[in-house]
Amino acid sequence: MHTGPLSQKLFATAKEMIPGGVNSPVRAFRNVGGEPFFVRRAKGSRIEDVDGKTYIDYIGSWGPNILGHAPAVITNTIHEVAKDGVSFGIPNPFEVEMARTITEWVPSVEKVRMCNSGTEATMSAIRLARGFTKRDLIVKFDGCYHGHSDSLLVAAGSGALTHGEPDSAGVPADFAKNTIVLPYNHPEALESLFAEKGDRIAAIIVESYPANAGFVLPQPGYLDLLCSITRTYGSLLIFDEVMTGFRLGKAGVQGLEGIKPDLSCFGKVIGGGLPVGAFGGRADVMDMLAPDGPVYQAGTLSGNPLAMAAGLAQLKELGKTSGYPRLEELGAHFEKGLRQLLSEKGVPHRLNRVGSMFCLFFTDREIINVDDVMKQDLEFFRKFFWACLDKGIYLAPSPYETGFLSLAHTEADLDDTLSVFAEALATI
Ligand code: PMP
Repeated sequence: MHTGPLSQKLFATAKEMIPGGVNSPVRAFRNVGGEPFFVRRAKGSRIEDVDGKTYIDYIGSWGPNILGHAPAVITNTIHEVAKDGVSFGIPNPFEVEMARTITEWVPSVEKVRMCNSGTEATMSAIRLARGFTKRDLIVKFDGCYHGHSDSLLVAAGSGALTHGEPDSAGVPADFAKNTIVLPYNHPEALESLFAEKGDRIAAIIVESYPANAGFVLPQPGYLDLLCSITRTYGSLLIFDEVMTGFRLGKAGVQGLEGIKPDLSCFGKVIGGGLPVGAFGGRADVMDMLAPDGPVYQAGTLSGNPLAMAAGLAQLKELGKTSGYPRLEELGAHFEKGLRQLLSEKGVPHRLNRVGSMFCLFFTDREIINVDDVMKQDLEFFRKFFWACLDKGIYLAPSPYETGFLSLAHTEADLDDTLSVFAEALATI
């Protein structure tokens, strides 16, 4: 058993009342065959578990904590704002400031609506695209995760251009058949689908850089093709930047790649660690939303003052001239050390990194889509994960997740981590 006695006791109790003992499945550590630790507190780059062990954290709450854990700019803001009320259900000024920040930073977003999670953002963007185009079909890519709404919990067999099979019990097949799953980075599959059904396709939804089945990068020209094909057929392009938005730069991947999607989805970083989501884009499309238009979408806690203020505090800090360059500097330092270490040890690997996001694959296959990701040495990953965790390095408890650096990480943290990696590799 790798976790301490208090974590073990909490998990045993949790399992009696919470399905699987967790409120989100990946937290159960099933992909690495073990049990999770429970967190007592976290600060900067470090997490402390209930048994008093500390870890350098490479997850950052799965993306939101880009300044590190509990930065004073966010905790002070939350304390101050909470004194004046934590939810009103009536418009508040922070919502306007958040909308201004998002529309200024992301040029494709002319109007934006706040919601409470990435799932809500993508679900609403899809409903909006269907309402705007008056078409039912949507296209997603194998291995892309867009939250757990019914239309998006579909991933067909890779390489096959098929109508969707539900990926979860409880999603009616009749519903899922409107979701078409394509292999990622496969231009011919896309072109032949649109040639056949393009005039019935409401939208393509794509993770701007797919980061939920490893971290997979688009091949040159692929994102441009998504843009041009949707334009040709009158479909919409929805960029899911829940993970990458405000993390890889002020304008996310669309800024890096020079892409102008019709709609974009956000979450994570813009809430400063509080529950949040947002979707936005072309004004003519967004104006279809209630109360102005016929597409219904709503939320009791949407635009919540605490989440807005915490997110704004985080964005303000990031927007300082040093924020994104510093994240790149840290990422490059880590990448260089990691490549050197793995080459010295002769470990077959691929490493994808952009800015503060990275993913290490234990394979020498080129990573083009989820098929390649699935072929890595999963047993090696599991051993590596536990060896690192035992020595105080917390990596994602799954070989399919992306790692995150924060502004609280230091070069010393990264070097310590690389030393632990070296020790871990020696034990496998
Ligand atoms: N889209 C992407 C790209 C995501 O990575 C996630 C969550 N990791 C979601 C949507 C869903 O967000 P949430 O968990 O906030 O519902």
